[in-house]
Amino acid sequence: MPQSPLVTLNNGSRMPALGLGVYQSSPEDTSAAVTSAIQAGYRLIDTAAAYGNEAEVGEGIRRSGVDRAELFVTTKAWISDYGYNETLHAFDRSLGKLGLDYVDLYLLHWPMPTEFERTVAAYKALETLLNEGRVRAIGVCNHSAEDLENLIARTDIVPAVNQIELHPYFTQKATRGAATDRGIVTQSWSPIGGVMVYQPENPNDVHNPLEDPTILVLADKYSKTPAQIILRWQLEHGLSPIPKSVRPTRIAENIDVFDFALTADEVATIDALDTGKRGGPDPAAVNSALFPFAIED
Ligand code: NDP
Repeated sequence: MPQSPLVTLNNGSRMPALGLGVYQSSPEDTSAAVTSAIQAGYRLIDTAAAYGNEAEVGEGIRRSGVDRAELFVTTKAWISDYGYNETLHAFDRSLGKLGLDYVDLYLLHWPMPTEFERTVAAYKALETLLNEGRVRAIGVCNHSAEDLENLIARTDIVPAVNQIELHPYFTQKATRGAATDRGIVTQSWSPIGGVMVYQPENPNDVHNPLEDPTILVLADKYSKTPAQIILRWQLEHGLSPIPKSVRPTRIAENIDVFDFALTADEVATIDALDTGKRGGPDPAAVNSALFPFAIED
């Protein structure tokens, strides 16, 4: 059974490099997807309060029969819960839904540059949770190099992880570099380019990295699927991809990437597919008005 190598975070915790994402996995599908992933060798599960499926993630974990201590569970505080006391409350709510007594990684879901004081207060709550041992590591999502600098300047603990949109059409070289300089691991969301397909800029002109000729040539060469080539490219860069699927065959396919390697030239060929254009929301524009919903207790 394939097992992901571990990466050591800046506080010494160890995280599987590759995991399962569950954004847009319906509550009905989530529990089975999580169980299927754990049975296929996954040890990292990435959810968020905003995904509405933390309870089903917990259920899938319990059904897998694998010891909790062997798993690495990430969840995220949603922006409506930013603020010190609000974020502490949100964490208790997430833990209750998951049915766990700690999480391995707790992340801020977005920066809110226009509501920065609340963002800083939320991160300070994460620091408290870390100091109390209720989370094993803390970090952020969707932070630019500048967002990271601004946050680090106002807080005590450097984030362990920055989870950002990152796939062959949006390779985020500068943000990755800034994170590496700070000892922060970059984790890739939409690692196989999902957002380019489920949220295309133009529905009549979808740019799917899984159909890119460069990727198809490499898939043919290595007798691997396009998703496996892209996930391997992520790993060659030292990134942490968290592909989402609710289908057992794809879940197994996506972790079966540890028996081959791409050459440096092949990695560079994929790097060259970068368009510099993101598929998801611009983090600079995220605030309570853009995403007005709140998480229910
Ligand atoms: P992905 O790049 O993981 O793509 C997921 C899509 O690809 C789904 O439609 C899935 O469909 C399909 N798929 C999965 N495996 C394969 C395969 N082997 N071949 C072909 N198609 C495949 O995109 P996501 O946006 O879901 O990102 C992954 C995870 O990142 C999320 O689930 C979430 O955990 C996290 N995330 C974090 C964000 C943040 O702001 N921090 C934002 C967005 C995502 P199917 O399920 O039907 O197989």
